[in-house]
Amino acid sequence: MNLHEYQARALLSRAGIPVPPSEVASTPSEAKRAAERLGASRLVVKAQVHAGGRGKAGGVKLAESPEHAAQVAAQILGMTINGLTVRRVLISPAAEIESEAYAGVIVDRVSRSPVLMVSPAGGVDIEEVAATTPEKIFRIRVDVRFGLLSHQALGLALKLFDDVEIARSAADILRKLYRAFLDAGASLAEINPLVRTPRGEVVALDAKIVVDDNELERRPEIAALRDPAAEEPSEVEAREANLTYIKLDGEVGCVVNGAGLAMATMDLVKYYGGEPANFLDIGGSSSPEKVIGALRIITADPHVKAILFNIFGGITRCDDVANGIVAATRQFRVERPIVIRLTGTNEDKALEILSGVGMRALTDMDAAVRQAVALSRAGTGA
Ligand code: GDP
Ligand code: MN
Repeated sequence: MNLHEYQARALLSRAGIPVPPSEVASTPSEAKRAAERLGASRLVVKAQVHAGGRGKAGGVKLAESPEHAAQVAAQILGMTINGLTVRRVLISPAAEIESEAYAGVIVDRVSRSPVLMVSPAGGVDIEEVAATTPEKIFRIRVDVRFGLLSHQALGLALKLFDDVEIARSAADILRKLYRAFLDAGASLAEINPLVRTPRGEVVALDAKIVVDDNELERRPEIAALRDPAAEEPSEVEAREANLTYIKLDGEVGCVVNGAGLAMATMDLVKYYGGEPANFLDIGGSSSPEKVIGALRIITADPHVKAILFNIFGGITRCDDVANGIVAATRQFRVERPIVIRLTGTNEDKALEILSGVGMRALTDMDAAVRQAVALSRAGTGA
């Protein structure tokens, strides 16, 4: 789950990291009043969307007065950045920047630990730094048993700032960033830019936190930060229907039980020259309602040209799935060919239910995938 910058700033600030004060506004006049309350002569107005590179896209602008902040907010509100509509802006006193650095903590799959990364080349995407000047990125693996140790933090901070006093402030920020990362159950916590001001202060001007969805259940206060309006609508609907769903760009809509089988199904779709329209796992104990929900979400995607069910009945009962398919086709028009592969628990009952409404099912996965791919290509004229 992505947090907005203003939410991430609040978490960093609560962890004790120096973050300039700010307010959130959803209209130009709110922006003006916020600027007046902040009482600064120069302000920065920033789009609040789940996207990086807002600066380059025109979503971060400086203003010289509250009136100017309102004008700038009017330009930014309603803008689309990365396909996302800007509904709110953050207003903050503009900081003076002497230099911009990067600091971030990620979960590293290879070492299976958090890794703290810093770079003196801040203010630009870290991916870009990694691609063009990888020697400007410094990392350490954090042993979760001991946490980030003072000397490790100071060692990295000295890569960012020569002045020892300034490096000490940065080291303190790095330790607090690591703490905030753990506390939020994050998979990423990033400050870019972490700036040094002409007065020798170190402050965080941007904050990005991505929370691991699996950590949300035991952190209700973090889960409450979710902004469904900023997320892909089909993914919101899927979450509410208790389905694991990720939208992709292809033409074959997939309904599968179990994440492993869903991955294998997508692989096979690609192997036979098709493109999956989604990853969708209806889970173990599937009720007909879940199948109806799944079909509703998939049929709402205009790119889907054919729908493939791949069900391996174990705890999931094939007759439940068949009942769901039949019920869904009665509730709304599917209007796309459906290829059904099911095998296992209550397979016979499922076949009976389906043949009762003139539908057929296959038991062979390979044959079903080939058929679905062929139908999706016929549907696109490819
Ligand atoms: P991003 O482009 O989405 O990462 O948005 P950022 O918040 O990182 O802003 C992009 C750039 O705008 C920063 O790298 C800074 O150069 C500039 N910027 C952001 N906030 C301020 C500020 O308070 N003062 C000044 N002078 N520049 C800022
Ligand atoms: Mn940034």
